[in-house]
Amino acid sequence: MRFLILSDLHSNLQALEAVVEHAAGAYDQVLCLGDVVGYCADPNPVTDWIRQHAAAIVRGNHDRACTGDAVIECFSGPAQFAALWTYGALNPENREWLQELPQGPVAIGDFFLVHGSPKDEDDYLLNKCDAAEVSRHMPGAICFFGHTHVQGGFAMRRGRTWLIPHPKPKESHHTHQLEPDTSYLLNPGSAGQPRDGDPRAAYAIFEMESKVITFCRAPYDVATAQDRIRKAKLPYFLADRLSVGR
Ligand code: ZN
Repeated sequence: MRFLILSDLHSNLQALEAVVEHAAGAYDQVLCLGDVVGYCADPNPVTDWIRQHAAAIVRGNHDRACTGDAVIECFSGPAQFAALWTYGALNPENREWLQELPQGPVAIGDFFLVHGSPKDEDDYLLNKCDAAEVSRHMPGAICFFGHTHVQGGFAMRRGRTWLIPHPKPKESHHTHQLEPDTSYLLNPGSAGQPRDGDPRAAYAIFEMESKVITFCRAPYDVATAQDRIRKAKLPYFLADRLSVGR
């Protein structure tokens, strides 16, 4: 079974469409690590697609904030503005569907999905220290996470932690064979608002039986996504950052 693993789409329809085309034929099922909405200007079409295609999903902090949860109080100004805008833009069916998304960890075969970390859905796993800290909370050997918008992740074995790299700017794929006796925290990266210096939409393909993960980057129509954000009168900062992937 091959899974297309998506995270942090953030209402970016142009990025989602590019990922679907880029990954065509490479997967059997879709999994989502949350933050379907927030930031960009197309919450309904992106939510419609995920509702129709995702076999499993966990909720993200923006899915909560954009549907009335008090977590919005912890957001920065532009994120808060976008969450309130999204609340108003979502149709009632999509809003209700997002409100009812499950909190992780969600088990899929022998691996797990979370938004932030296995310990806390709102935690950011940004560095090796953060990863080592949650190693004792791992529900299993392989856990997929999002939230940081940084593709790659961490491997841990016998007290040692190391980084798993994502594709370099001139590469579109980077494949790793996962090893036995090793724990993995794997981040497919953000499709809709990457923050690892590469503006291309990020995703991952995971082959469950062979334990092979491929991190992928798909170029997309950034200018149209930016135009949609500006036309919706969302903060221009949210458009500008898509050009640089920060
Ligand atoms: Zn996010």
